[in-house]
Amino acid sequence: MRRVLFFLLAVAIIAGLTFAALHLPARATLAFGDIVVETSGTMALALFLAVVVVAYLVLRVAIGLLTLPRRWRRWRAGWRRRRGDRAVVRALVALAAGDSALARHESGRTRRFLGDTPQTLLLAAQAARQAGQEEEAAALFGALAGLPEASFLGLRGLFQQAVARQDWPAAATLARRAEASFPGALWLRRERLAMAVRSGAWREALALAGPEAPRAVFAAAAAATEVDPAAARRLARRAWREDPRLTAAALAYAGRLRAAGSGRAAQKILRAAWTANPHPDLAAFALAPLSDPMARHRAAQLLVSGRADDPESHLLLARTALDAGLVGQARHYAEAARQRLHQRRVFLLLTEIAEQEAAAEEAGEDAAARAAAVQAALRGAAAADPDPAWHCAACGAPAPAWQPVCHACGAAGRIVWESAAANAAPITRQNLPPPLTPR
Ligand SMILES: [Zn+2]
Repeated sequence: MRRVLFFLLAVAIIAGLTFAALHLPARATLAFGDIVVETSGTMALALFLAVVVVAYLVLRVAIGLLTLPRRWRRWRAGWRRRRGDRAVVRALVALAAGDSALARHESGRTRRFLGDTPQTLLLAAQAARQAGQEEEAAALFGALAGLPEASFLGLRGLFQQAVARQDWPAAATLARRAEASFPGALWLRRERLAMAVRSGAWREALALAGPEAPRAVFAAAAAATEVDPAAARRLARRAWREDPRLTAAALAYAGRLRAAGSGRAAQKILRAAWTANPHPDLAAFALAPLSDPMARHRAAQLLVSGRADDPESHLLLARTALDAGLVGQARHYAEAARQRLHQRRVFLLLTEIAEQEAAAEEAGEDAAARAAAVQAALRGAAAADPDPAWHCAACGAPAPAWQPVCHACGAAGRIVWESAAANAAPITRQNLPPPLTPR
């Protein structure tokens, strides 16, 4: 509203001034040498205005002609940039869609329109890699590595190529250069860790591992390959401290302690490990120095004392009691184990116990009952879940023993000891099948 008022005011003022000028009683005299032109003031004003307008137009045309090359260059640069930007987007889309031919074509256009910038070099290198042109990609990544502000990108590409062709020395050199170019890069740390794991450099893996990585696994693996006994013991202790539930860590630490003559300390570690996570390997190692069956049974009782109600504890005590000739105790522990473990090994042990019981009976009704018990236990073994075994929790591949890395999928720290049935449905009191009728 205010603008309209101003406009009307300006129109009124200009109209008033023009009206006043047209009615001024003025005369003007223009002299061009001998030619003298005498005219009215109004005509002189109009002439003056016309001269101003023409001079302005001539000046505009002259300036336009003079700045034409510069404006042409600017327009052309803008045109190339717009074309280049469109090509960048098309190349990115083609890369994401996996159309390597189109990605190479568009990345070539980006270089033509925008020149060799870090962005266009990176795009072209990625497109070349996707198309399988590794040499061309290496040359482009090399050019990128030569640009001071983008050298990390080039080194990253060269590093990935080295890892892909499993050239570990070259990858290590490139990783060091990349680290110097961009210190503390999280990506590089992860890649170096993965490389250390792949090449079995466990100490380096341990040094690079963050809190989310299986450090106990790396420490246990490093302890196993360490030649210096003192350093190996330190690594094993670290593994055990990082994860007391890791059987391999406990075995490594207890093994180093026993080798150093600290048998009692080793047994203490094994007891703590059994309490944290019972595993038959712990028992086998703990009882290995003992040959007398009764001493083994007593040692087993001590070993499991921290977790006496666990089915693994029941199973171990049933085995050592049977070996020591304590068939009644063996039967008691095996029945306790069967309440919670529906696995083949439990039923096979029950079969053995039933056979021992049958052997103790010479003849008569009881002997027939015992023979029936053996048959029942054998039938139970046939129908039972498979025993727990080492396998990869990531890909399910079986492993003959614990390993730091799955040989099938390369996952670190994923080898677990579980029953195949436990993967499908964990055994709980709710889904446990009813126990066989005790005899
Ligand atoms: Zn695996």
